[in-house]
Amino acid sequence: MDRPSIPIIPVPPRHALDGSVLVHPPSDAESGAAVSDQYGRPLRDLRISVTDRCNFRCVYCMPRAHFGRGHAFLARAEILDFDEILRVARLSVALGVRKIRLTGGEPLLRRDLDRLVAMLAMLPVELTLTTNGALLARQARALKSAGLDRLTVSLDALDDDRFRAINDADFGVADVLAGIDAAVAAGFAPIKINMVVQRGRNDADIVPMAARFRGSGHILRFIEYMDVGATNGWRLDQVVPAAEVVRRLEARWPLAPLGENYRGEVARRWRYRDGAGEIGLIASVTQPFCGDCTRLRLSPDGHLYACLFAGRGQALKPLLRGAADDRMLTAAIAGLWRARNDRYSEQRSAATAGLDKVEMSYIGG
Ligand code: SAM
Ligand code: SF4
Ligand code: SF4
Repeated sequence: MDRPSIPIIPVPPRHALDGSVLVHPPSDAESGAAVSDQYGRPLRDLRISVTDRCNFRCVYCMPRAHFGRGHAFLARAEILDFDEILRVARLSVALGVRKIRLTGGEPLLRRDLDRLVAMLAMLPVELTLTTNGALLARQARALKSAGLDRLTVSLDALDDDRFRAINDADFGVADVLAGIDAAVAAGFAPIKINMVVQRGRNDADIVPMAARFRGSGHILRFIEYMDVGATNGWRLDQVVPAAEVVRRLEARWPLAPLGENYRGEVARRWRYRDGAGEIGLIASVTQPFCGDCTRLRLSPDGHLYACLFAGRGQALKPLLRGAADDRMLTAAIAGLWRARNDRYSEQRSAATAGLDKVEMSYIGG
């Protein structure tokens, strides 16, 4: 399939207060320049999972039956340190990455995360983070000061009983709302709020969530439940199609579609016609967007994944901890991207749901 490649928009490097450039421009060794995959998709986004651990046990992501006491989480020595993460990020930027998202597991569980944020904030990228929000009240200010640009907070229900049943770890809605409030006080705005919708589990919260965040300045995004990993027992009949979410909301508040902010934007945007802001729909199951997918993922232990639904990643750690120079590492990252032909969501079927796929809590959303 021939696809026109997306033009790379250069982002100027950040400058220190005195005007000096904080990040050196890519060296010859690094500047493999922008790379495109087998379908002409450029590398633009890097998602970095900083831990496979989480303080929640969301039933659709880390069900206790699989992530209980017996589960073997990564040992500390296996996990990339901040210098290793920064090195991969820096070389990826030279290959075209313009946006970095920190994720997990729960990224706020990673010790001294604000120090990593400060290191990555030196790169010429938009730096974002996705969190379940439970520890945000304590960390929002430090993250903002360290240079985090934007925040996404996950919240699947406003009903406290339903929320507790989903996170299965005794966190209440108030914990997350306190995190969102603290983030606003720290200067994050607008905040994206992610709600994974599951039929029968929290679809009753669609309208209350919209009512709560309409007019708040935050952007609520409804995410179709996906068949990631191999442990959540995903079934198609649990997916609430994005079109149905829109229909349910429109019955209450008239909506109008909005255009893309940029090519490849994952969420389809709608605005309330009464001016109460916008919402997003992430329809990865019913309206796949592989054609514009420019995301590369780095696991906590240094594996690169070209797709959220991949079975295996490419181990970078032997290079990072061996004698490989930047040129060799760049070649490894670029080689993976150039060979990439993933488009799982466009090929999804009853048969693919059973394939061996990486867990979302390990590779991040
Ligand atoms: N722990 C953080 C959080 O929950 O925000 C970051 C990691 S979590 C894996 C990232 C995002 O993936 C969250 O918004 C979560 O709701 C979403 N997610 C996890 N499993 C999912 C699934 N099966 N389908 C759709 N979204 C999922
Ligand atoms: Fe943890 Fe996020 Fe997965 Fe929930 S969705 S279990 S908060 S990693
Ligand atoms: Fe990208 Fe893979 Fe998701 Fe398609 S299925 S949008 S290629 S991560």
